Amino acid sequence: MGWLGLRRARGTASDGGYPPPDPGGPRDLAREARYELAASITSFLVDNDLEVSPTNLLIAHGAFSGCNPRLAQLIVARAQSPQGITQKWLDELEEQESGQPDRAELDKLMTRLEANLDAFHANTKQARSATSDYGVELEQHVSDLEQLQKTGRIVSSLADLAKVMLERTRKAEEDMRKSEDEAKALRRSLDRARRDAELDYLTGLPNRRAFENLLDRHYREARAALEPLSVAFCDIDEFKKVNDTHGHDAGDRVIKAIADTLARISDDKCHVARHGGEEFVMLFRGLTPTEAAQKLDDAREALADRRLINRKTDEPFGQITFSGGVADVFGYGDARAALKAADAALYKAKTSGRNCIRIADPA
Ligand code: GH3
Ligand code: MG
Ligand code: MG
Repeated sequence: MGWLGLRRARGTASDGGYPPPDPGGPRDLAREARYELAASITSFLVDNDLEVSPTNLLIAHGAFSGCNPRLAQLIVARAQSPQGITQKWLDELEEQESGQPDRAELDKLMTRLEANLDAFHANTKQARSATSDYGVELEQHVSDLEQLQKTGRIVSSLADLAKVMLERTRKAEEDMRKSEDEAKALRRSLDRARRDAELDYLTGLPNRRAFENLLDRHYREARAALEPLSVAFCDIDEFKKVNDTHGHDAGDRVIKAIADTLARISDDKCHVARHGGEEFVMLFRGLTPTEAAQKLDDAREALADRRLINRKTDEPFGQITFSGGVADVFGYGDARAALKAADAALYKAKTSGRNCIRIADPA
């Protein structure tokens, strides 16, 4: 049963084994190993009453040479069992062994599988770590999302509020636009009213009120500029007769014709206004009373030369004339006093026979 130790102990004469190597020569370990292997195989076959067949020799070689440790273990276990080693068992073993895949291939497969498992584990770990990281990140995202939802609600509320405000703003804008339009319309109405308030509707000339404003302004400016400033009062002569003869409407048309005559000599330095009834006032900026009287007298003469006709009746009005009185604005206490002086000069013109211009005496 020396083969049970798989390696037969070095043979001695006492155990009846094979002759030992020459004790005096140099030791040949390889040769001794081959000797021991052959002795073990022989012993195994003989002891178990086995045929010296290629199959048995192959099994024995695999088991005792160390090439197939698993086979050696199986043989040892079987030898120590009650059944013992038989040719039948060996045949079955050989059948099993021949059906087994190559151990080296299996080891390679196992190695690859282990490597794959390691890689799988590493990948899984990495994946788990990544998943964990992702989870944390996701959790953060969820938190962020929740925050966003909260923020979203706030934004939504703000958006709703903004919409309401926008709507209100639009409405306010619309209201403001309407108000602006109304304001513009009101401004136009006011401007028109102001113009109307200062305009004589019959003649289209500035009225007495407008003239007073003009007089105040030019009084200040002319005084500051040391420019002469003269005023004049004009009154249609014997106008009652016109009304009496041709009617009030015809009298209006005559008043309009006189207004147009006086307006023709008006410019940015000469202003004419209807003072009331058939009376007109004039302002001559930059003209002395004499120069103004001359200018006014030219207009008077031009009118006196005309022969107006009543368009409605084609009847002639006859000669229409006016009288005028001129005064130096700065020759009196104030503009009102100058106007009174001009009116006084007018009176003189009337009393002088009418159809003439008189200059007021200095104060
Ligand atoms: P005098 O030469 O002295 O000025 O004589 P006069 O007839 O013009 O006398 P006065 O100035 O006193 O009379 C003015 C008249 O003018 C009186 C009034 O009936 C008339 N009158 C005043 N305003 C108007 C008006 O707007 N239209 C018409 N048609 N007549 C007016
Ligand atoms: Mg009069
Ligand atoms: Mg008159």
